[in-house]
Amino acid sequence: MNILLIGSGGREHALAWKIKQSPLCERLVVAPGNPGIADVAECRAVKATDVMGLIGLAREIKADLVVVGPESALAEGLADACAAANIPCFGPSRKAAQLETSKAFTKGICARYNIPTALSETFDNVAEAREFLKTYDPPYVIKADGLAAGKGVAISPDYQDGVAEIEAMLGGRYGAASSHIVIEEFMTGEEASIFALCDGETATIFGWAQDHKRAFDGDTGPNTGGMGTYSPAPVVTPELLEIVRRDILEPTMAGMKAEGMPYKGVLYAGVMVENGQPRLVEYNARFGDPECQVLMLRLKSDIVPYLVAAARGALRNLPAPEWHKDAAVCVVYAARGYPDSPIPGSLIRGADQDFGRDVTVFHAGTSRDEKGQLRAAGGRVLNICARGPSIREARDRAYEALAGIDWPGGFYRRDIAWRAL
Ligand code: ATP
Repeated sequence: MNILLIGSGGREHALAWKIKQSPLCERLVVAPGNPGIADVAECRAVKATDVMGLIGLAREIKADLVVVGPESALAEGLADACAAANIPCFGPSRKAAQLETSKAFTKGICARYNIPTALSETFDNVAEAREFLKTYDPPYVIKADGLAAGKGVAISPDYQDGVAEIEAMLGGRYGAASSHIVIEEFMTGEEASIFALCDGETATIFGWAQDHKRAFDGDTGPNTGGMGTYSPAPVVTPELLEIVRRDILEPTMAGMKAEGMPYKGVLYAGVMVENGQPRLVEYNARFGDPECQVLMLRLKSDIVPYLVAAARGALRNLPAPEWHKDAAVCVVYAARGYPDSPIPGSLIRGADQDFGRDVTVFHAGTSRDEKGQLRAAGGRVLNICARGPSIREARDRAYEALAGIDWPGGFYRRDIAWRAL
């Protein structure tokens, strides 16, 4: 098969690494890719949001499957364009991707199909939102409806701060993404990320993980795209997975189908677990980054048949995927200044060495200079991932490998997976 994978982050490097191991994959092209991906696949300089360019590339390489990494491509309608061009695509249509691109949309699905989540209301008017806030107790959860690069959620400790957030968001802080806001009940518990493959009809659980959103140790500092992950996550038990499948994923699949936008691709459910009961925090329409990295390290089955079956509506014919017993940990090595203003261009030495069988270094924001040396070219730059018989050993291996990389321009959290230890 010829496969076209879209994206340029650590998530896509992990997907490329795994897809390339499949005997079914004859040719793997990644657009636009990155220097790490270039070691395992052909990279082509077409942006993830250039839908027409990507369709042209898919035709040129006679792609049997397009696999979409980032949500930006989905929001641009890449899956719809693939459908129109008759190219099987792993990823939801623009309408179905509203599960990620509109929090108000998802809240509506939850309400109509009885899916457990925080109570909420949607507003486009400051006065009404202020009045409504009085009916809740702090802390207040205020969310921009649309995509805001992971920054669109405010948790306000008191009424005054809550009102300031309402005014800022509805006043256009995130442009059109915050022309509507969702105010919701504050949930307590432990969070987990659960992934499912979907083919428009059914959802097959496809791994789980926990992440660390804050920039600094002890879960302090600003929110980021994610500073590290580990899998399995002790909070995710077989009973919990069954409840998530039955009460959250299946009703979502049925609801999306009933409303004329069957969901295909990976559905990432962020859930809050309290006393063994999950409630949906949010959906994402793609693999998490860096959750995908630990999932790919743990996945024993060939991934390609699953991607094809999800795209073609044939997941029912496949057995449940198999996983290595080993745990996996991913530590994100970020450029100093991330997330606000990462400093670009610093030199990284030692990332290309052979770290042994259990360690894999995925590239995210890297570039090569004219001498072929690796340089920082983004916020999150490298993902140091390791497997081990326990989370502790996987973590120790990841940190040991990281210590062998010479990058004065980078920083990382030293406490990844603390919750599981
Ligand atoms: P992401 O970057 O994960 O896509 P997002 O901007 O889409 O984030 P959410 O995942 O909805 O936003 O929320 C971000 C974080 O805020 C959650 O991971 C959770 O920690 C917290 N949060 C969101 N909603 C609630 C809630 N109702 N109660 C408590 N905490 C919440």
